[in-house]
Amino acid sequence: MRQLSPGLLSAFLLSATAFAAGSDSVRYVGKTKYLNNARAVVSHNIDDSTKYVPNSLDVMDKYGIKATIFISTEEDPPVEERFFTQLQVKPLWPRLRKAVENGHEIGSHSRTHPCKRPDTEQFCSEAYTDAEIVGSRDLILKRTKQPHVWTWCYPCGNCANYEFIQKRIAAAGYIVARNYPNEAQDGHIVPNLQTWDTNPFNAGYTQVVQKRGGAAKSEITDVKILNAKFDEVYRNGGIYNFMSHPQWLDYGPDSFYEQHLAYISRRPDIWYVPMGPLYAYRTLHQQTDVQQIDAGPAKARFRVSNNLDRKVYNGSITLEFRAPAGTTVLSNGKRLSERTKQVTDRWNEEYFRREGETVYVTVRPNTTLEFR
Ligand SMILES: [Zn+2]
Repeated sequence: MRQLSPGLLSAFLLSATAFAAGSDSVRYVGKTKYLNNARAVVSHNIDDSTKYVPNSLDVMDKYGIKATIFISTEEDPPVEERFFTQLQVKPLWPRLRKAVENGHEIGSHSRTHPCKRPDTEQFCSEAYTDAEIVGSRDLILKRTKQPHVWTWCYPCGNCANYEFIQKRIAAAGYIVARNYPNEAQDGHIVPNLQTWDTNPFNAGYTQVVQKRGGAAKSEITDVKILNAKFDEVYRNGGIYNFMSHPQWLDYGPDSFYEQHLAYISRRPDIWYVPMGPLYAYRTLHQQTDVQQIDAGPAKARFRVSNNLDRKVYNGSITLEFRAPAGTTVLSNGKRLSERTKQVTDRWNEEYFRREGETVYVTVRPNTTLEFR
């Protein structure tokens, strides 16, 4: 351990004294990096409108893993295009609606899954039409109760590097678009991103969990190796974002997929969340302002506000306070319930959680918090 210098020590004693003097008061500390002050994040996503999507969802629900389900939305494709992995969305809608209710997210994987190697600028310009980008979004909104479509996924990983394509995606209201980098050279297997991507419209992920498929040359299905990557991200308090193609998985308790999901599941210090709400949280965190206002009859009051579109940024953020034992917290006059050990697997709930003198308040912004 590092030794405290005499200066630091006296500063520490001074602040400890000051804190003791004000120990009956409420103090705002800051916004937590992740919802409910989780130590790390797990976010899963799966690609393609195949008949295997329900199998994968069933495994996720068994273990409480939350995902973005990327579907291609064409419902009546020509017969010759109804190939193995695509364009079978029609029978999936009831299961997808249930997934939205269960805290998953439906993302767009275009309408017809246009795919070409190499992805020339001309191909991308012609393939990324309004029908693909806006049409798929609108059908998801029409067929489900999801309030917004936050997340795009580039079919075959094509076109993700073109800024003019990223702009088309952003213009349609998406806030994040996932890539699938360099599949021909196996670059897609462990991109090793362990936090939010700096460019959300060319967003990476940590690793794939799937058998060899598509143009890939190799695979990692050794559960020990898959779990070790998760352990590394968890240790560092990062975001573990893993993707799969349900058609390239095995199912059953002994399969690598189910064993990996079991290993990473139901940890009290992890936030389980799909990709769109996870990226929305970053913006909520950056743009929400917390101001202490006149306490009135309460111990303390704070105004929590931002200017974001509430339909898109419909999630909660977590604020850390110091508050004496027995303090209750109200949001816009409504008393928040207390959580103890429940798993954090939603993004828009409101509650508080206490750890000693620290109170973590999870609320949707544009509210007044009152401590009584
Ligand atoms: Zn695909």
